[in-house]
Amino acid sequence: MASYNDLVNIPTFEKRKEEFSQERGEVTFYCRDCQKNVEAVRLHPEKYIYECPLCKGKRISIGTEGSVKEVYSRRR
Ligand SMILES: [Zn+2]
Repeated sequence: MASYNDLVNIPTFEKRKEEFSQERGEVTFYCRDCQKNVEAVRLHPEKYIYECPLCKGKRISIGTEGSVKEVYSRRR
């Protein structure tokens, strides 16, 4: 599960993933290299492996637009 943890870097993801779609709107993908939301490409249908279409990196965090902004603004 190491790769899963590497990719999903939002601490609240596990706890709040069920609330995401209901309370926070659409799930989005945030590229930590590009430092913005991207239309990530899912590389495997059963795994949380995503590729950034811009930099071809795989440092994608998954969350809603609101939660991603919240987490990253809090950290900086
Ligand atoms: Zn990127």
